[in-house]
Amino acid sequence: MAEEHIKVALIGNPNTGKTSVFNQLTGLKQQVGNYPGITVEKKMGTCRLDDHTKATIIDLPGTYSLNASSIDENVVIELMLNRKDENFPDVVVVVTEVENLKRNLLLFTQIKDLEIPTLLVINMSDRMKLKGIELDIPYLENQLKTKIALTSSRKNIGIDEIKKLILDYRSLPTDPCLNASSIDPEYFDKLRKAFPNQLVYKLWLVITQDVNFLNLDRNEMKSSFTKSHSELRRLQQKETIKRYQFINDTLKVGQTIDRSKASDIRAKLDRVLTHKIFGYLIFFVVLFGIFQSIFDWSSVPMDFIDEKFAQLSVYAASHLPAGELTNLIAEGLIPGIGGILIFIPQIAFLFLFISVLEESGYMSRVVFLMDKIMRRFGLSGKSVVPLISGTACAIPAIMGARNIENWKERLITILVTPFITCSARLPVYAILISLIIPEKHVLGFISLQGLTLMVLYLLGFGMAILCAYILHKMLEIKSKSYFVVEMPSYKIPMLKNVGINVVEKTKSFVFGAGKIIMALSIILWFMGSHGPGDDFKNAEKIIEQKVYQSSVPINPSVIPNWTAEYKLEHSYIGIAGKFIEPVIRPLGYDWKIGVAIVSSFAAREVFVGTLATIYKVGDKSDEEATIKEQMRHEIHADGSPVFNFASGTSLLLFYAFAMQCISTLAIVKKETNSWKWPVIQLVFMSGVAYITALLAFQFLK
Ligand code: GDP
Repeated sequence: MAEEHIKVALIGNPNTGKTSVFNQLTGLKQQVGNYPGITVEKKMGTCRLDDHTKATIIDLPGTYSLNASSIDENVVIELMLNRKDENFPDVVVVVTEVENLKRNLLLFTQIKDLEIPTLLVINMSDRMKLKGIELDIPYLENQLKTKIALTSSRKNIGIDEIKKLILDYRSLPTDPCLNASSIDPEYFDKLRKAFPNQLVYKLWLVITQDVNFLNLDRNEMKSSFTKSHSELRRLQQKETIKRYQFINDTLKVGQTIDRSKASDIRAKLDRVLTHKIFGYLIFFVVLFGIFQSIFDWSSVPMDFIDEKFAQLSVYAASHLPAGELTNLIAEGLIPGIGGILIFIPQIAFLFLFISVLEESGYMSRVVFLMDKIMRRFGLSGKSVVPLISGTACAIPAIMGARNIENWKERLITILVTPFITCSARLPVYAILISLIIPEKHVLGFISLQGLTLMVLYLLGFGMAILCAYILHKMLEIKSKSYFVVEMPSYKIPMLKNVGINVVEKTKSFVFGAGKIIMALSIILWFMGSHGPGDDFKNAEKIIEQKVYQSSVPINPSVIPNWTAEYKLEHSYIGIAGKFIEPVIRPLGYDWKIGVAIVSSFAAREVFVGTLATIYKVGDKSDEEATIKEQMRHEIHADGSPVFNFASGTSLLLFYAFAMQCISTLAIVKKETNSWKWPVIQLVFMSGVAYITALLAFQFLK
């Protein structure tokens, strides 16, 4: 018997537990992608219903109604109106939750009018007892003309019931549960006559939505059925009122709530967590805790990954047959993969914390709390999440801006997030600070070096806010400004949801940004180990010649170092460093720092590694010296140290502001769907970095 595939669409208001239901149905059999051309996440999964039936489940973005107000919501409407879409469902599963049934049912009644087989899931049944809620399911099924599964995705109750109902979807009634066309019978009659083959409600949605529908000619319809904008709005309102009347009537009989059981713990907690003073205090304590843990807990696995890949590289170099391919593997591929994997601990921990904050319901309170402040700078309360995440890595942070409805606020958030000091800048800061700031304490306990590090973090944050303000004033983008944040009830996070989210986000980093980091590492390896002309090819001979001609006796042990330095200088990357030297000289840098800057364009932390390589090969005296000591001893031709207070400060500022992360640019391109914004970002940030570094060096030298 041939296998049957049923296409299922999961639809529901945000916070109804839709994702949890999806996770329960599909487990890890999920695929996350994007809708073509836009950045809305597209989640699909499969689920076995019986021996010869499989369901493909598409988890649509959360939406409150079929009246779209964000790109996420457009996706839902576009799919529901387009029978020709390859994902058009055989059956729609509307997920609602028991505490907000009234609001949730609005969407259900709209979907029902599209006359697609629709079943209703009432989730979070585990909270009914606590809240004193009782439901008359047969009555509700009868009124709503559907089948109902009462579930708790948290306790894994009722999931099999959903599967059974999906399997049996052909027996679901497809008639609407109320007659929406009675809001203006004349008008709807006209519509019906003009398009006898179309569903009236569908026509109505097409006329009233401000979105482009793929296969429907909106303009033609609009011109023949003109009604003023305000008239349409009035009718839409009338429709909503009619729907709520129907829902109220239905719930009056179908649902009983014992009000005395409604707990006021939530109200008390809300009062504290969104309090004018305590709210902020608690938030900062939470943030502080998160950062401490991210850095503390990640350092062990990160060091481990670092060490293992370094060993692997040495192992490969010594065990594989010598040659170009081995060099590529040992010096290009292995460090490249290591350079991707090393970020996994931080990204995983960050998303662990963010998921827990979101799952518990606390994040909505923070967003509400911060909205007033952020709005002054052209940002949204929801920008808080990306800005915080940016301290680990800008890539997941920029992805996290997706839930900002207003396009202008979202764009500004995306553009300023890279100013936030990410973890890749930390190794650069650490080494430069230890070189130029004395290891002293003021007032007995405040470390000067620690203070400098904090100033650098604040500088990044300040610059982000300042630029947001400027962009807010400059950008002339009209987009609907409204702010909806729902305050879901507080809940213990569900482990399965948190786990799946962490895995998904980490995967998307490894396969998204990872590809680019990998490609760049290989290019950099190639540029560092190849060079044009004879200087590079004959480096050994040239150095031998020099040693031979030298008037002073030379220790033969330094010859390999000299050769390596000579090679580096004449490799492509060395030439690039020399090429940009005139531009960076006013900032106090020489060509070797130039090489490090060029190579750290892929990812900032490469800076330290590159300098280590350069000074290692250039150092003639002490094999065992640490990179810090080598940097301290590095001198210009005139004998002055390369890393002094002026050049060090200049470098710190350069790294604080420069957009040196190709992966971030790639993600900005993806999220804004154009090259315009990443290019502007690159030029602007590099400009700011150059100017501040220049001013710092010229003043301090
Ligand atoms: P979505 O926004 O609709 O996708 O909802 P999520 O699946 O992210 O869940 C929202 C919140 O409800 C999370 O805190 C979940 O842990 C919680 N949740 C999900 N299902 C249940 C349930 O059956 N019972 C209870 N008590 N909480 C649930």
